[in-house]
Amino acid sequence: MRIQRKKTREIRLGNIAIGGDNPIVIQSMTNTGTIDIETTVRQITELQAAGCQIVRVAVPNNDSANAIRKIKQKISLPLIADIHFDYKLAIAAIKAGADGLRLNPGNIGGKQKVLSVVEAAKERKIPIRIGVNSGSLSKSVLKKYGVSAPGLVESALEHVDILEKAGYEYMKISVKTSSVPLTIEAYRLLSSRVDYPLHLGVTEAGTDFSGTIKSAVGIGTLLAEGIGDTIRVSLTCDPVKEIAVAKQILQSLHLKKGLEIISCPTCGRTEIDIISLAQETEKRLQKFSDMNIKVAVMGCIVNGPGEAREADYGIAGGKREGLIFQHGKILKKVSENKLIAELIKVIEIDSQSR
Ligand code: SF4
Repeated sequence: MRIQRKKTREIRLGNIAIGGDNPIVIQSMTNTGTIDIETTVRQITELQAAGCQIVRVAVPNNDSANAIRKIKQKISLPLIADIHFDYKLAIAAIKAGADGLRLNPGNIGGKQKVLSVVEAAKERKIPIRIGVNSGSLSKSVLKKYGVSAPGLVESALEHVDILEKAGYEYMKISVKTSSVPLTIEAYRLLSSRVDYPLHLGVTEAGTDFSGTIKSAVGIGTLLAEGIGDTIRVSLTCDPVKEIAVAKQILQSLHLKKGLEIISCPTCGRTEIDIISLAQETEKRLQKFSDMNIKVAVMGCIVNGPGEAREADYGIAGGKREGLIFQHGKILKKVSENKLIAELIKVIEIDSQSR
């Protein structure tokens, strides 16, 4: 089954297109001090190597806005400046070369200031993300709706209205919360109300274990319904891990091509250490991460090849030996310690003849 994505308007951040028919874009945010240019650039380079396509940096002061100029000289990813409240920082960030802004126009102090930001953004066609979350709802919205999906959406639409009235429709929107059901409900409602591209995320999701699960359930549910154009997984850990999780969410829903490793849960028939074998296989096969293949790691030679018939390649472990198979068909029997190396050889030979 292919997911039918909801068609949204297309925007561009630097050389990356979001919305329309474009693939879902993975983004992340640095957790370094933006004024520490060297460390920030190092983290952005690591994020890019992991598969991040757009990066956001915090801009809490003028020095951070100015640092963007130097950071941009040393990176090739589009960069978004994250601004709260101060319209001057938004303008300074644009002038320093930011490719996008995250800013809520209702919180920067009035129409004139919004118009100044819009004027600067228009000049370089810089998209603005309206990013509402449960902690940023206005008093009037809170009074009328409380912290609820209609409240989050109403708040986002208030900001949208301000930008539209200022003559700027080059935007994307997010309505993140730390509650998965509330986040899902809010995005569903928002998606039914606008055709701007949506940036998905569960905010303050937690540590790498619980945050990964919350993000996978929240972001994954929405993506499966065709909602969302770009995603950010927020974890309390090294942001590079966010990228691996984001890629896995997209791959699980077949929204991103690439290497997929499946492995059996094991049972009483297993005679080898399948847990280590699966982990080692996943690690050593990363060099094929751009290949669109499914590789199975199975715990027994009797049922393994048949159970993983849909896999392009597979290994099945037995007592001190194992099988290499392709679409359920056995290719060869090898000793346990050579299983992964032999599997790699088979994939390499195949990839050269493609
Ligand atoms: Fe059990 Fe073999 Fe199936 Fe794995 S492949 S679950 S070991 S029967």
